[in-house]
Amino acid sequence: MTFAGLTCADVNLPETGCAPFMRETALDSASRPSASRPPNGFLSALSTDDFELIRPHLRTVDLSEDLVLVEIDDTLKRAYLPHRGVISLIVKLARGEQIQVAMIGRDSVFGAFSALGDPIALNSAVVLIPGVASALGVDRLRDAADQSTTFRATLMRHGLAVHAQIQQTVGCNASHSVESRLARCLLQTRDFAGSDKLFLTQESMAQMIGARRNSVSLVANTLQQANLIHYSRGHLELNDPDSLRRSACECYATVKAHYDRLLRPRCEH
Ligand SMILES: [Zn+2]
Repeated sequence: MTFAGLTCADVNLPETGCAPFMRETALDSASRPSASRPPNGFLSALSTDDFELIRPHLRTVDLSEDLVLVEIDDTLKRAYLPHRGVISLIVKLARGEQIQVAMIGRDSVFGAFSALGDPIALNSAVVLIPGVASALGVDRLRDAADQSTTFRATLMRHGLAVHAQIQQTVGCNASHSVESRLARCLLQTRDFAGSDKLFLTQESMAQMIGARRNSVSLVANTLQQANLIHYSRGHLELNDPDSLRRSACECYATVKAHYDRLLRPRCEH
């Protein structure tokens, strides 16, 4: 693998999980234990002792747009903890449709259940919004969970939060209107990315809510005419998130409540 003329060996990549076109550096805090933690909710939730279990193994990697982190049925070798950007979990159907079932952003971790259970990926994972993440081997994450019950409990709660998002997405796509689904999904993307400005093509928005592209185009125009969003050539800005919440279905608040409960700081540090 090469990136900007570098090989895996040049940038000290581990032998496993050397994803294409991914540049990575050792985390500063790996050599400076007192340094602040990377800005990720899972890492922030860990006690000092639990963070030390994985700190030496964390690497900072770029999440480039459309980068495929794993394909369904492949072994997931690395877990990703976004600082910025959003990872999309996708199922692919036999006729070629690709439908997003969940997103993972700065508040959580991709790879929790691969570390706790089976390493074979149940869905594909692609970078939706480019950014930066901490990454480490799934085996390192598993080792930490085996060494510490509190680490395992935190990892399980983050995995459950993603599971809650997936099951709500199933109900949402089956029952709610395209407009309310798009509003829900844009608000979630905003939360996970931590920005009102998003780069999303109509194709990716259609995939995010399991709708046809022309339906998404019509609904995006409606939201824009109501001045809830501004959209131009993939550049999308949420002008009025509070009003957009009124257009969203119940699923936005339901998923947020699950996340707030499951990821709430515990008194176990
Ligand atoms: Zn819904």
